[in-house]
Amino acid sequence: MLPFQVTNSPFNEEQVELLNRLLPTLTSAQKLWLSGYLAATEMIGVTAQQEAPVSKEVTVLYGSQTGNAQKLAEKVGETLKNRGFHVTVSSMLDFKPNELKKIDTLLIVVSTYGEGEPPDNALSFYEFLHSKRAPKLDHLRFSVLALGDTSYEHFCKTGKDFDKRLEELGGKRLYERVDCDVDYEESATKWLDGVLNELNKQGSFSVVATPSTQVQPTALYSRKHPFQAEVLENINLNGRGSNKETRHIELSLEGSGLVFEPGDALGVFPKNDPELVDLIIQEMKWNLDTSVSVEGKEEPLKEVLLSRLEITVLTEQLLQSLASFSRSPDFHALLSAEQEEKRKEYIKGRDVLDVLREFGPWEMTPEQFVSSLRKLQPRFYSIASSLAAYPEEVHITVGAVRYEAHGRLRKGVCSTFCAERLHIGDKLPVFIHHNPNFKLPKDANTPIIMIGPGTGVAPFRSFLQEREAIGAKGKSWLFFGDQHFVTDFLYQTEWQAWLKNGVLTKMDVAFSRDTDKKVYVQHRMIEQSKQLFRWLQDGAVVYVCGDKQRMARDVHETLIHIIAQEGNMTREQAEAYIADMQQQKRYQRDVY
Ligand code: NDP
Repeated sequence: MLPFQVTNSPFNEEQVELLNRLLPTLTSAQKLWLSGYLAATEMIGVTAQQEAPVSKEVTVLYGSQTGNAQKLAEKVGETLKNRGFHVTVSSMLDFKPNELKKIDTLLIVVSTYGEGEPPDNALSFYEFLHSKRAPKLDHLRFSVLALGDTSYEHFCKTGKDFDKRLEELGGKRLYERVDCDVDYEESATKWLDGVLNELNKQGSFSVVATPSTQVQPTALYSRKHPFQAEVLENINLNGRGSNKETRHIELSLEGSGLVFEPGDALGVFPKNDPELVDLIIQEMKWNLDTSVSVEGKEEPLKEVLLSRLEITVLTEQLLQSLASFSRSPDFHALLSAEQEEKRKEYIKGRDVLDVLREFGPWEMTPEQFVSSLRKLQPRFYSIASSLAAYPEEVHITVGAVRYEAHGRLRKGVCSTFCAERLHIGDKLPVFIHHNPNFKLPKDANTPIIMIGPGTGVAPFRSFLQEREAIGAKGKSWLFFGDQHFVTDFLYQTEWQAWLKNGVLTKMDVAFSRDTDKKVYVQHRMIEQSKQLFRWLQDGAVVYVCGDKQRMARDVHETLIHIIAQEGNMTREQAEAYIADMQQQKRYQRDVY
């Protein structure tokens, strides 16, 4: 090998001397290693230089009630960071609206809750943006990912509202809004890919090639791959003569690796009622054993209707997709734009069998029928146990839903499956749904106030098990209510034991049907308003779980009333006090 010279190489005198001293001493293997090493590191350097995107700020805001939108927003943030963007991910509650003027790229991930309402942690931002105080946003590029459920009338309303409002304020849509149904992964991935594409196009950034932007859960067992949990216990918590049937179900998580915290929920995949399935098949005069294909898999029709598809929930989409198979003029009239109100009314409390019975004759094959139905969705139950108290187990509290409507007994799919057809030793497909918005305070000395009538009491059993297991010193106060003391005092002996050993400091109960006058949890709260306000002033965290339509609203009103009265505040000041509590995560709700 010729010695290096300044004239025949790119090196300076000193480098030439060093190289000429080093190279003759190297073995062939060392030379080979060094050349490979230099080539590889040089390539890495070049790649990094060529492909690193120009730095760019993106703000991702989420509004999330049960944690799905939050999880997605975090995933979006992570993906963007991996691609070189500077990302801030924040809940709408923690975001200062004044910052809006300073940012130029905004991504919103938001769910819709209840009857088209924003989630609790999106409310103040939503109101600000829709108020006169909202700034002009001509400088802003934005895109909205809306989460929702097509079986609700106001599907994805909050996302749609944000999308519309940001445009009204002058924002430019970076990428079209995507509205996701309950199975949101695929649509969310499509949205994120679209957003990334636009960010790269519009900002002329280069994309660092990473394998995929898939928005997917990473745990071994998940919604897509539920764990088959063995049923250890399934008992009715209500006494004889009760109007209610509330099941306490214990499941084994042994070997699953699944973990959860108090406040999380359990996703459960139920099976439909076999009687209802038989009635559908009889109505259509189909053969039970006919084979149909769902997601590329051939299965008997009966099995598909039992375990794979939703047959109780009617949606606008479902009615429209059944339209081409019905020759009923009434059905077509119902589907017209003029009858929108009547249609919405029809959808309430009716199911697929009602449609099949009322709007024949049908010209529809089993295959066409099943392809109109949407996938059977899991149902969620607040977890009623703590891993600290029951390692490798999960307990839930399930109220069986049965009611008469339009001349037929209707049954809640999962709750009556659990009550009527789930036995000890059976396997139930489950997964954990983490809920970051319903969590015990990090500081175990913080006082907590828990308001949970009916099945709403479930997570508080988990809270107290946890607090007992970790020896928490914080005070705790439980408000529980149900119809009758004798038959409906769910987990009575457990609360009493905790009162006795001090894990539970105080308990107030409201049995609504034991006296002439209705007594609800909020009446008990008012009776104790002085003390309750003192607890709030001492920093207590308030948790509300259970019925969203009436109880949660009334309890909210009651809290405002108590704060105004005991704190000598106007209604506006009391509302601001609650908003402040919310901001500090001191008012958390898990309502359904
Ligand atoms: P409920 O909430 O129906 O009843 C518990 C207690 O709350 C009863 O004493 C009831 O009194 C009382 N109550 C009624 N109205 C109010 C109010 N405005 N403020 C305070 N208390 C009130 O208990 P459940 O466990 O049966 O159900 C809890 C919630 O869960 C309900 O909303 C139910 O519809 C819902 N649910 C949802 C399911 C689902 O699949 N999504 C499944 C099961 C239940 P009274 O009845 O005497 O008026």
